[in-house]
Amino acid sequence: MTFEEFGLSEEIVKAIREMGFEKPMPIQEKVIPMLLEKNVDITGLAQTGTGKTAAFGLPIIQQAEPGVKKTQVLILSPTRELCIQIAKDLNNYSKYVEGLNILAVYGGASIENQIRELKRGVQIVVATPGRLLDLIRRKAAKLSNVFRVVLDEADEMLNMGFLDDINEILSTIPEDRNTLLFSATMPKPIQAIANKYMTDPVEVIAGVRNAGAENVKHLLYTVHAKDKYLALKRLADFYPRIYGIVFCRTRRETQEIADKLIQDGYNADSLHGDLSQVQRDYVMQKFRIRNIRLLVATDVAARGLDVNDLTHVIHYSLPDDKEVYTHRSGRTGRMGKAGISIAITHLREKHAVQQIEKQAGIKFIKSTIPTGRQICEKQLFNLIDKMENVEMDNSDIDSYLPVIYKKLDWLSKEEVIKRFVSLEFNRFLEYYKDADVLGTPKEESRGRERQNRQRDNGKAENGYTRIFINLGKMDGLVPNALIEIINKNTNGPKIPVGRIDLMKKFSFFEVKSDHAGSLIKALNNDTWFRGSRVSVEIAQSKDVRERQKNSSHHNDGRKKRKRRF
Ligand code: ADP
Ligand code: MG
Repeated sequence: MTFEEFGLSEEIVKAIREMGFEKPMPIQEKVIPMLLEKNVDITGLAQTGTGKTAAFGLPIIQQAEPGVKKTQVLILSPTRELCIQIAKDLNNYSKYVEGLNILAVYGGASIENQIRELKRGVQIVVATPGRLLDLIRRKAAKLSNVFRVVLDEADEMLNMGFLDDINEILSTIPEDRNTLLFSATMPKPIQAIANKYMTDPVEVIAGVRNAGAENVKHLLYTVHAKDKYLALKRLADFYPRIYGIVFCRTRRETQEIADKLIQDGYNADSLHGDLSQVQRDYVMQKFRIRNIRLLVATDVAARGLDVNDLTHVIHYSLPDDKEVYTHRSGRTGRMGKAGISIAITHLREKHAVQQIEKQAGIKFIKSTIPTGRQICEKQLFNLIDKMENVEMDNSDIDSYLPVIYKKLDWLSKEEVIKRFVSLEFNRFLEYYKDADVLGTPKEESRGRERQNRQRDNGKAENGYTRIFINLGKMDGLVPNALIEIINKNTNGPKIPVGRIDLMKKFSFFEVKSDHAGSLIKALNNDTWFRGSRVSVEIAQSKDVRERQKNSSHHNDGRKKRKRRF
């Protein structure tokens, strides 16, 4: 059955499709149709990573009434992290449903804020038992309109000593409520709760989780080989809170990718065997304390790193040994947290991808690289999130506030928000304004190919000119060196440099078109780099193909293989 066939609304199906849900997981297949049909009590025996949240969450989103500003659904969960995660998931599922308020309440955070939020009318409350009791006693949480209660990870709640609290909470909710209980195990006290508070519960058992990958989602991005780095950057931008390892195959590739990321302003560094022990320790320490958010590493070097609490694992190159894929991706999705394993591949790797799926017992979710617009959107909401959670106990600020309030007096709240958001956000919008769509190669239209060829004709997009230079990686050219050559041989303000494509024996780079002429003249006037005389010219599409053909004679065969596709 598909999600549509369950009878889920169009809004919900659209939202979960965007999250990469294509087929329902077994527990979803069992629970969703049952709940949509009638209010049956359910006990679900299921381990982490089996998709429970959507199993109970999607029917809840469909059945809660946005028009009624009272709490209708209560979800109890053992920890703050899980509460936040569930609320976040529900928010994602209901992205296109208007007017539904979902709130996570948990201990260790300001109760006043939570009371204020509850007063605004929240239809779905996700709570840890202790804090919820507090809120009930303060008359801030009112449960008299609750029609469904979910006990998620019930055995964990038991382990954490919440048994009495749960009993107390359940006794305050109307008896005709519908109760769902999910647990990885069913110890006696949990069965007792089921017996006491549930009516003829249906037992659902979900399939066994996939060992070694329980919370990990495997995403597959297929791009042109030359676009791999761009794809990596887009993904890093798309996950503003990314904390992950980017796996490369060789030391050289590792260094190169890290250098590029650093140059492009990311908190990145490299870890590989060419570094001294002292350097390696230093990098690992910086990564541990999260000063580095993206660590580019070889498999061997990463082995010495005891950090497993990653949000993402990125396979910039697929491992030769397919088993290594499982080791790599096992570094994310630990401790009940969701993890994402991303493979950036090109078409020639289709077979390798299939081998990994077989070996690791996983199924990749084929995904498309986020568009500039989607990234901007993501960054925007991250910014707003950050603002909501900012520490405000800084009394130094208080003394300035009266003056600032007065100064901004002429602006409405909406205008203040708009200005504040624009201030931070214009930079990203600007960068992604004209960004290309990085499509899956085989899905690309002929039109795009034509466009690509035009780029090689010297006329790059957005006012840049593409220039050929007779130096390549074999000559020791790296992006920094190229920029240095340009800066050293020109006067005045720095020339804006766009995309740089380093090949083995030659390279291309883009400069703002109004500088192209003078730069070419300057560089052709007796400039030397590591014993080679520099020669540059505007890139011509015909030349490009000609040169590629010539250079493939000296190639290691890779180019030739590529031709077959
Ligand atoms: P549980 O609560 O059982 O531990 P979750 O509900 O957190 O599991 O789901 C585990 C992961 O699987 C999450 O990252 C979730 O987004 C993903 N997921 C859930 N359902 C689907 C689906 N139908 N297709 C793809 N991914 C899914
Ligand atoms: Mg869960």
